[in-house]
Amino acid sequence: MTKAILRLKRGRDAGARTHPWIFKGDVADVGDAPPGAAVTIVDSVGRFVGRGFFNPRPALCCRIVTWEDEPLDDTLLARRIAAATARRGGATPLGRLVWSEGDGLPGLVADRYGPMLVVQCLTAAMAARRPALVAALRAAAGNLPVFSADEAAQARLEGFEPVRGWIDGEGPARVVVEEAGVRFAVTPGTGHKTGLYLDQRENRARVGGLAAGRDVLDAFAYTAGFACHALAGGARRAVCLESSSEAIAGARENLTLNGVAARAEIVAGNAFDELRRLDHERARFGLVVLDPPPFARNRTALEAAARGYKEINLRAMRLLERDGVLATFSCSYHVSSGLFEEICRAAAADAGARLRTIAALGQPADHPVLLTVPESGYLKGLLLQAC
Ligand code: SAH
Repeated sequence: MTKAILRLKRGRDAGARTHPWIFKGDVADVGDAPPGAAVTIVDSVGRFVGRGFFNPRPALCCRIVTWEDEPLDDTLLARRIAAATARRGGATPLGRLVWSEGDGLPGLVADRYGPMLVVQCLTAAMAARRPALVAALRAAAGNLPVFSADEAAQARLEGFEPVRGWIDGEGPARVVVEEAGVRFAVTPGTGHKTGLYLDQRENRARVGGLAAGRDVLDAFAYTAGFACHALAGGARRAVCLESSSEAIAGARENLTLNGVAARAEIVAGNAFDELRRLDHERARFGLVVLDPPPFARNRTALEAAARGYKEINLRAMRLLERDGVLATFSCSYHVSSGLFEEICRAAAADAGARLRTIAALGQPADHPVLLTVPESGYLKGLLLQAC
C-alpha cells in the first residue's frame, strides 16, 4: 500500500495535475519516504492529486505515475507496459516499446532490437522494480533475452547501482537489425543510448531517399546511420565526421555490412574543425546531415549552445551545392523548435544562403510527445534545400 504522503505547497497542484514532475521546491512535506517509494500526492489542503515515485536525492524528487485513486504497484506498471506495447502494434522488430513519461512509465525505457530487448532504468524506483518490469515486458513483447543498459550518470544522480548486462541468462553477443532495408550491427553494452539512436529511424530513411547521385556529408555520424541510408539510396559517396573511436568502429562495421564501405570515408576528429576546414577548402556536397549531441543539457548552457548550433549550420549551408539538401537536427529539449528555426535563420543570413523548408522533422510515434510535457518532445529538425 502507498502510505507515504507527499503534500504540495499551496498553488503547486495546478501544474502537477497535468505534468508528472515534482521538484523539491514544490514540496511542503513528505515525511521520511525512502528512495524509490510510492507516495500519494496531495495538495496543500489534503486533496488527492495522484500517486508517484519519490526519491529524496535528486531535485526532481517525484514523478507522478497515476492521477487516478488506484494502487501504484507492479500490476499497474505491467498494465502500462502492455498498453505501451499494444499501442505500437505489438511485435515490432526494431523500435521503442516504452518511453518513460511519454508512456506513463516515468523512468523506464524499453527497446526491441530484433531477437533481444533492452531496458534502461532512469530512476531508483524503476531500478528497484526491475524484475517485475522485465517479467511484464516479456509477457507483452515476447520471451526474449533482456539486456539492461542503465547509464552511470543518471544512476549516480538517483543513487542506485547501474546494471549493465544480461538480466537472467545470456543473450546474443551481437545482433544485426534492419531499418528500412539498411542493416545495423548492435553489440549489447557498447555505444550510446540503448545501442542505436532509434529516435532518428524515420529521418534516416527519409534522408536516404533524397541522396541518389549526391555527395553526402554525415556530420556527428555516430555509427554512420545516415551515411548508410544515403549510400544505400544511391549517393555517390559519403564523408562521415565523428570523434569517438568506438562509434567509428561501429561505423566501419555498418558500412561494410551494407556493402557501401568503398564509397565512404570516415574522418576522425572534431566536426567543428572539420566543417570549418571543408568550408575553407570550398568543398561542396549535395546532402549534408548535422546530428550533433545535445549542446544544451540545461537552461544555463543555452546561449553557448545556440552559438554552437549556429556555427555548424552556417558552415553546413556554405557547403551546399545548388539544390543541395541540409538535414539539420537538435536533440536538446531546452532548444525549442521555434528557437532552432531562428538559429538556422540567423545562420542562413550570415552564410548568405537562401533555403526552402522542405519539412520540419521530429521524433517517431514510438517516442510519444505529451502535449503538457514539452520536455518529452526533444528532437527537432529541419529539412532545407538551397534555392
Ligand atoms: N546521426 C547518428 C547519431 C549522432 S549522435 C545516428 O543517426 O545514429 C552524435 C554523435 O556526435 C555521437 O556519436 C558523438 O560521439 C559525436 N560527437 C560529439 N561531439 C563531436 C564533435 N565535436 N565532433 C565529432 N563528433 C562528435
